[in-house]
Amino acid sequence: MLTSFYDLSRDEFKARLKEDGLPPFAADQIFQWIYRKFEINPDQWTNVSNKVKEYVKTNYDLSLPKIVWQAISNDGTKKFLVQFSDKQTVETVAIPARERLTICISSQVGCAIGCTFCHTATQGLKRHLKVGEVTGQFLAISRWLMENVGAEEKLTNIVYMGQGEPLHNFDNMQKATEIFLDEKAFGLGQRRITLSTSGLVPQIEKLINFPPVNIAISLHSARNNVRSELMPINKVYDLERLFTAIQTIPLKAYRRITYEYLLIDELNDTEEDIEALCKLLRREESKINLIPFNDFPGSKFKRPKKEKVLWFMETMNSRGYTTTIRATKGADILAACGQLKSEVEKLNVWGATQSSNELHGTV
Ligand code: SAH
Ligand code: SF4
Repeated sequence: MLTSFYDLSRDEFKARLKEDGLPPFAADQIFQWIYRKFEINPDQWTNVSNKVKEYVKTNYDLSLPKIVWQAISNDGTKKFLVQFSDKQTVETVAIPARERLTICISSQVGCAIGCTFCHTATQGLKRHLKVGEVTGQFLAISRWLMENVGAEEKLTNIVYMGQGEPLHNFDNMQKATEIFLDEKAFGLGQRRITLSTSGLVPQIEKLINFPPVNIAISLHSARNNVRSELMPINKVYDLERLFTAIQTIPLKAYRRITYEYLLIDELNDTEEDIEALCKLLRREESKINLIPFNDFPGSKFKRPKKEKVLWFMETMNSRGYTTTIRATKGADILAACGQLKSEVEKLNVWGATQSSNELHGTV
């Protein structure tokens, strides 16, 4: 089987060109065609020599993950079901907000962490995504947008908040991030990428080797007993160990860590929870993003009433903590990561071969 072109960094591809007696600078040109113009057909690479084009065609697999289903919500949020060469699928979501278009990328098929509120957890971990399957989500969605919406519709930001725990797939996510940041590849700014983690302590301690992107921690409770009920990982790495590890994250002076806080009715939304949060977090170093729980079939939790969510936010703000509620569409979509699969199954189009336009629907 041919190597997927998208698994290689620019330096790696340069080294291969050199080894194979071809000019290494062609790597810069090809990377710009693919990652800036989303042109994956070598015949269209006008400034690349025929010899190099032939070399790429013969030695590398240039096929992208397939979009097998998509849905567009009323607010413009687009969900995609993306399929890889082994037929495994993940969800990828594009969320518009003001001048941004954020892509929510998956890092694994399924997830091993087993959070009790998360639909993805019910699948268990099937496998890690490869580098080219991570960047391939961006490429496939960008091409879809170009073809279906127009050239002006460009992805601007990335959140690693789809299926999977990105730090469990550390090396591949690191390399994919390097390609997202590479000025001759996607060329995104560091502040446009946010990695969300459930709190894998040994990997958090390795973030010193990771490109300096924004970090979000799925906290969900500042009380060990409650957090352990929600996230079994807390039984291995409790709050004390987690926060010792967080201190090692190399943060630039102007940046703060985002703490994602899922709000579940009568479980972590009380006065006592606010007290615990204020005791745990330092105002000047933290941002809190409240995510009202998103229900799914078979879940035992409930979303609190809107007033309760607002009360929680206002109380935290009055205590001096920058606290926001994840915008409804973001909340619907991000939390709905892991739910698309069942929606597709319900619609009985699972594995369908119809063109995506025929399946185009509203969720
Ligand atoms: N695995 C990583 C990133 C993906 S999940 C992590 O856990 O951080 C992205 C966010 O969605 C996390 O904060 C996660 O806790 C939250 N989430 C998962 N299931 C949810 C649900 N049913 N309702 C609301 N948010 C949910
Ligand atoms: Fe995995 Fe994140 Fe879901 Fe937890 S919330 S099971 S870490 S995807």
